[in-house]
Amino acid sequence: MSESKLRVLFVASEAYPLVKTGGLADVSYALPNALRHLGVDVRLLLPGYRSVLEQLSLIEVHENIKLSPLKKPLRILAGTMRGELTPVYVIDYPSLYDRDGGPYQDSTGKEWEDNALRFGMLSKVAALFGNHSLLFKPHIIHCNDWQTGLVPTFLKFNADHQARTVMSVHNMAYQGLFAPEVVELLGLSPESFSMFGLEYHGKVSFIKAGLYYADWITTVSPTYAQDIQTSEYGCGLEGLMTERQNQLTGILNGIDTDTWNPETDPYLARHYNIENLPVKVRNTQALRNTLRLSPSKQAPLLGMITRLTEQKGLNLLLPIIPSIVKTGAQLAILGSGDKKLEKSLQKLASEYPKQLSVNIGYDEELAHQIEAGAHLFLMPSKFEPCGLNQMYSMRYGTLPLVRRTGGLADTVVDATPDNINNKTATGFVFEKNDSNELLSCVERALQLFRDKATWRKLQINGMSSDFSWRKSAEQYISLYYQLLD
Ligand code: ADP
Repeated sequence: MSESKLRVLFVASEAYPLVKTGGLADVSYALPNALRHLGVDVRLLLPGYRSVLEQLSLIEVHENIKLSPLKKPLRILAGTMRGELTPVYVIDYPSLYDRDGGPYQDSTGKEWEDNALRFGMLSKVAALFGNHSLLFKPHIIHCNDWQTGLVPTFLKFNADHQARTVMSVHNMAYQGLFAPEVVELLGLSPESFSMFGLEYHGKVSFIKAGLYYADWITTVSPTYAQDIQTSEYGCGLEGLMTERQNQLTGILNGIDTDTWNPETDPYLARHYNIENLPVKVRNTQALRNTLRLSPSKQAPLLGMITRLTEQKGLNLLLPIIPSIVKTGAQLAILGSGDKKLEKSLQKLASEYPKQLSVNIGYDEELAHQIEAGAHLFLMPSKFEPCGLNQMYSMRYGTLPLVRRTGGLADTVVDATPDNINNKTATGFVFEKNDSNELLSCVERALQLFRDKATWRKLQINGMSSDFSWRKSAEQYISLYYQLLD
């Protein structure tokens, strides 16, 4: 088979810019694009959420099928994203997907009660493609996270299955656990509901289904591939991961270097690159202005953009914010999620209005402006499968400060004297999940901030690193071919 003929269906529950809650959306946009540039006929399959239907263009009905347990026929639409190459298939079934609120939760943050059916049907439709029952007949179905975890199970128990499956884990902490009745509801093989299958402590685990039955498993960084084989990070599935370690590969995510490019980013006050790096300060000034932080020229500005969950290390940061502020530094935080964390942050912001700006919500524009305007970017995560913001930061000459875990460990090189000398240092790394360690690391970074020449060298090291998708896409292509051999 020549490379141009490789056909891949990439199935996901979110894809930028149609629908996004986190890094998975960025990957579902950028990886298929990179694969297409390398000659793969890759197409995306998504649920027909309202935002997806509204943004797609050139929509036509591709298939019209009856699929149990749904009462009415389900339509598979084919469309394109404006200006993009990757064709998108969308499952149009309004009572499942076309509603207010987010893809997984309603507007109060409560999980949709019919998520098993919503994502079970996403997997079931993907499996139809995998059985070659529909017009597009992929060689590979690339599944992503628990929402697509049932695809390999549906295929495994269908004698006619044609496609091979890859299951990518973007975050092991989200597992899709549902009552056992789901087996019958979705028409899964009763045989699959076993410890040696998709059963997990009496429940149906969508992620385990994928991890058990997929032909190959990938995760989004080499270190996370090791991490999930341990009880600390395996979220109860470390045993299965250890058993399948010979079919488990860590492939580092890339970043979309067009969307995240300080030379062309439409959201920035001023464009810049390595040659005119001092211009970056204009973005710092603009950010301080927008966020009503004091216009101090000398103060280091620390940025953070994150889902507000326990994973992201807010419990380490919150208690030391007063100490950071005392050094004269400023913080710009953008995030949403856990209501308690939102409130604690907002309370602190009201105490330090000129030095701490807390912005609750999802704001793409502000995210770009923080990346460009901040000097230092904080990611003190408890665990981090890959992480994208540390790579955006390096590209924007903003030094990341991260905990040594998962993809953060694979991408940021600590500013030790040796690493500074051999020109590999790109940021600051601390080890333990501990507030004091985070504070010492911030202090170490703030001290180096005063040494402008060395700081500049670290910025340049980061800005000249290659985080493009090409390398990773090539690794996925060799994996696909390996599975087809
Ligand atoms: P995760 O997928 O665990 O949320 P990643 O670092 O892999 O973490 O990806 C997060 C992505 O979501 C990044 O592109 C980040 O900029 C974006 N993001 C997270 N929260 C917000 C927010 N409140 N506003 C804008 N972008 C956000």
